[in-house]
Amino acid sequence: MSHQTGASTNMSILVVGSVAFDSVSTPFGKADEALGGSATYFSTSASFFTEVRLVAVVGSDFPDEHIKKLSGRGIDVAGLKKVPGKTFRWKGRYDYDLNCAHTLETHLNFFSSFDPVLPEAYKETPFVFLANIDPELQISVLDQVKKPRFVACDTMNFWIEGKPDALKRLLQRVDLVVINEAEAREFAGASSLVKAARIIQGYGPKTLIIKRGEYGAMMFHEGEVFHAPAYPLEEIFDPTGAGDTFAGGLMGHLAATQDLSGHNLRRAIVFGSVMASFNVEAFSLERLDTLTKKEIRLRFSEFKRLTHFEEM
Ligand code: AMP
Repeated sequence: MSHQTGASTNMSILVVGSVAFDSVSTPFGKADEALGGSATYFSTSASFFTEVRLVAVVGSDFPDEHIKKLSGRGIDVAGLKKVPGKTFRWKGRYDYDLNCAHTLETHLNFFSSFDPVLPEAYKETPFVFLANIDPELQISVLDQVKKPRFVACDTMNFWIEGKPDALKRLLQRVDLVVINEAEAREFAGASSLVKAARIIQGYGPKTLIIKRGEYGAMMFHEGEVFHAPAYPLEEIFDPTGAGDTFAGGLMGHLAATQDLSGHNLRRAIVFGSVMASFNVEAFSLERLDTLTKKEIRLRFSEFKRLTHFEEM
């Protein structure tokens, strides 16, 4: 497989997660077996900001053109393993409430036996994002990275219900958790998000970001709460991957700026919201394929105007 392992820089991000075929239907259309997966969305989004190294597994049915598309974006695919068999498949449906994905089918295929081995050059990557995937795999990747500077993870109901203990073990070792509103409530067994945040932070992470779909994102960090809106769009075609593109913009900005202060975390959340707002404008990765850095900058400035008000 073509790859481009380069020297580790202090701005690199390592991501492990799913690379998938998604079949998605929304009230506005559908996509069959389109390129998707948590690591695909994350790495594409983060690649607008910095160098990204991908760790994932696909089957022999996965077309090389998809891999070329990722490496064409500068994503290091040396850790993307192709094995005989079928690629992970996810089938989901959204109704008019686009904040809520209904999983119809999850075919892990050989994901359940995937044993990720990091290429030597990946082991010193300073920023690590453990995208939504089996928490045992997230732990196994983290075990192989030497003294990462900043580790963040995502998860979902499938793993909260299926592997809660592994998830709790993982949370002891991460700096930041990025999680959906409904999943935060379910995981913590609390309906108040403030209470849910306190309970989840009690498992280990210093910072928690709760994604609230069209209502934006909330950050709990060092006793402070920050709330950013989502960009008000008139049309949303497909929310699939919004969470991962959000995380890609967020981590991309943190790694590119090397600044982990509370102020910069706030900016990073806005960059995450900017990336997610573009992603939902089309199915699969279509919108990110044509996106430019200039468009990202402009929408970032629009967020400033959207949230700015003068004190009396
Ligand atoms: P989100 O950003 O939350 O919309 O994530 C959507 C992506 O998650 C889709 O592209 C799916 O392929 C992927 N996905 C769905 N279920 C799982 C799962 N159980 N494990 C890993 N990835 C999944």
